[in-house]
Amino acid sequence: MLDEERTDKFMTMLQYSGKEMLIYPGYIMKELDTTSDIVYKMLRFLKDEGLVKEKYEVKCRMCNTYQDAIYESIEEIPRDLECIHCSNKIDKDEEYLVIYKIY
Ligand SMILES: [Zn+2]
Repeated sequence: MLDEERTDKFMTMLQYSGKEMLIYPGYIMKELDTTSDIVYKMLRFLKDEGLVKEKYEVKCRMCNTYQDAIYESIEEIPRDLECIHCSNKIDKDEEYLVIYKIY
């Protein structure tokens, strides 16, 4: 798990983020200079504690950009998504990303 300094930094980040803010695991990973394994473990822990909720966002692999919509569940992501930037057909099973919302 994380050392104390990183845990403190993470908790501070959360405090300053405030309610309804979205947490991107990749951003936290960079900020804390740690691995995605650890970040996801921490976020799952916070989820179990009822502090954050999982959401889903879709990223286009062709142009590497996020789509505008945020979904509550994987089932909610439409089958026939087309990238809003480059019109690439997006495979929802492969290109969604789990993000977290502060609850
Ligand atoms: Zn695209």
